[in-house]
Amino acid sequence: MISDLFEELESEVEKCISCGFCESVCPTLPAAGYDLWKGARGRVIMGKELLSAAKGNGTLNVSDSFYSCLDCHACLYVCPAGVNAGKVSHISKSIIAGDGIPGNQNPLARMIAMVTMHYMNPLGIGEKCAGWFTGMKADPDSTDLLYTGNMYQLMAYTDGMNRMRERMGKGMSKMMSSLIARFPGLIRLAPMKKDEATALKMDSTLSNIALLLRKSGISFNYLAEDEPYPGTFIYDLGYLDLFEQYARKVAKILRDSGARRIITVDPHTYDLLKNTYPKYVEGFDLEVVHYLDLIDGSSFSSGSESITYHEPCHFSLRQDAYNRPLETLRSVASVSLPPRSGRRTKCCGGPDELIFPELTHRVSQNRYDELRDTGAGKIVTACPICFSNLNKGPEVVEIGDYLASRLKN
Ligand code: SF4
Ligand code: SF4
Repeated sequence: MISDLFEELESEVEKCISCGFCESVCPTLPAAGYDLWKGARGRVIMGKELLSAAKGNGTLNVSDSFYSCLDCHACLYVCPAGVNAGKVSHISKSIIAGDGIPGNQNPLARMIAMVTMHYMNPLGIGEKCAGWFTGMKADPDSTDLLYTGNMYQLMAYTDGMNRMRERMGKGMSKMMSSLIARFPGLIRLAPMKKDEATALKMDSTLSNIALLLRKSGISFNYLAEDEPYPGTFIYDLGYLDLFEQYARKVAKILRDSGARRIITVDPHTYDLLKNTYPKYVEGFDLEVVHYLDLIDGSSFSSGSESITYHEPCHFSLRQDAYNRPLETLRSVASVSLPPRSGRRTKCCGGPDELIFPELTHRVSQNRYDELRDTGAGKIVTACPICFSNLNKGPEVVEIGDYLASRLKN
């Protein structure tokens, strides 16, 4: 209900004392050339403006301020008043998506939501996401389900999609997005180019994750071409009513497969299934784990190689921080963390990639420089989005690949 969202927004923004502490940690503020409206405090002020406009006090274009938020929650951990500007942005996006502020809908966001609803994949390419499993066998009798959520596989298409939008220009891109939102089948006609090198890399990471599980004696089922995307974009972009329908559908598919335990491989799917699905899917009773929870630590050779680790926001900045990747890395190598780590970790910029690619580029370059400045020989990531955005040199490696390279013979 839009009225509930307005109430929730009011109770969050009215706590703000406008001190500006959140601006010191917000990755998008410097990346946007210190444009106030693309920083944490600006989003909270904009939230207040949105409420005022909704009460009939003038019109307002607020969309970019909220859609450029990375939803990293770094601001929450420095705010003396306990305001979460990421939450303000998410509630505001949900109001906009529900047409609570007419004229503010983002056509690209709507297109992604509608295509996902139609194909159970944000680009309509679900059947192409199982190629990495060719030659491997699932165990249909297992109650453990390996759930990639298509996340690694989608990374091969983001650059191509951004280049296509750049070639079209803003006006044409908006028009096409609106058209595809109305007729999602048209997405299949879009000349979206797959980046073959990224696809090979991502397929090999997924194979290494499967190898790590098998080496730890875990036999799992996998839905291959029938595997649905978890709905992350629909939720993040604020389409809450659609998300509720979608999450129920996904939960049914997972349950009907005979699964009791869902083995996730990325932080976004892990966080969404563990913390958001139970709020939207009544009786959601599937156990959700990350594959590293199941890995037998004794299968690795220990060592003292110098590495650094980029902690993903959806592991480190959520209510219950998930530190298993860091603990595992510490057991096999010498880990030095950048100054922004733990509850102060800094987002890779990835969540802005489709709507504000230029902001993503600046945030990720900044984070890559911080990680490189640790002087460590390798930069280890634990998320396909972080890897894609921070992969600016040969020293950047995914945790699945790194751990597979450390398996004892
Ligand atoms: S740190 Fe908190 S109180 Fe201060 S400006 Fe940001 S949101 Fe407002
Ligand atoms: S959630 Fe992240 S990007 Fe959004 S306002 Fe807070 S610090 Fe900035």
